[in-house]
Amino acid sequence: EYMLSKDYFVQVIRDLIVLAEDRKEYFTDLDSAIGDGDHGINLSIGFREVNKNIEDWKGLSVRDFYNKVGTALLDKVGGSSGPLYGSFFMKFGLPIKTKGPDEGATFEEFIAMMEKGVEIIKKRGKSTTGEKTMLDTFVPAVETLRKEYEGGTPAKEAMEKAVEAGKAGLESTRNIVATKGRAMRLGERAIGHLDPGAASAAEILEVFYKDMPN
Ligand code: ADP
Ligand code: MG
Ligand code: MG
Repeated sequence: EYMLSKDYFVQVIRDLIVLAEDRKEYFTDLDSAIGDGDHGINLSIGFREVNKNIEDWKGLSVRDFYNKVGTALLDKVGGSSGPLYGSFFMKFGLPIKTKGPDEGATFEEFIAMMEKGVEIIKKRGKSTTGEKTMLDTFVPAVETLRKEYEGGTPAKEAMEKAVEAGKAGLESTRNIVATKGRAMRLGERAIGHLDPGAASAAEILEVFYKDMPN
């Protein structure tokens, strides 16, 4: 059976630390167009805090490790993305049944983890798709992931399809007005711009994909 190891889950966070630095300017530029220009800064602040602690946390179970990551984002990031991504990671590990420090997850559990994370974003954000937020990336991605895997697509390929669906969702944010978040105030003027949180979500999902074993 296709499994995702404990090392995979730690490596994803290491790569998200790198992503937050590498893409800081890009996410901030997107947010400058329709928000307050801090999305990249917010992610960078959050993941720098994670970076400070990752060596202390990596011996924890996946569930507890992700809970620490999420708590750091929630505590350290002021913007709306901090609590939203924070909650995503805090709840992400909950569907894992095994709790040992060296145990990973089945792909079935991984799908449930992604679904759990997205469910929490919806709940905390009181938001859904079509509102020009990160959910426009996450929701179609996670729906595609389940559909493809249950339809017989191999695990990593199903995740690849999920990433593609997420990118299509990201593109869809260009043509809609925002009904959640700061971009709401812009009304029609938000049209033509990608949502920054949808953009970061697409790149986060890509990290989860790229780190998967073949
Ligand atoms: P802030 O808007 O507080 O400055 P960020 O710039 O870090 O925070 O994050 C903005 C992103 O957060 C938006 O682009 C959007 O994707 C996401 N977002 C904002 N509000 C919500 C919400 N209610 N539900 C889901 N996502 C949201
Ligand atoms: Mg902002
Ligand atoms: Mg802000």
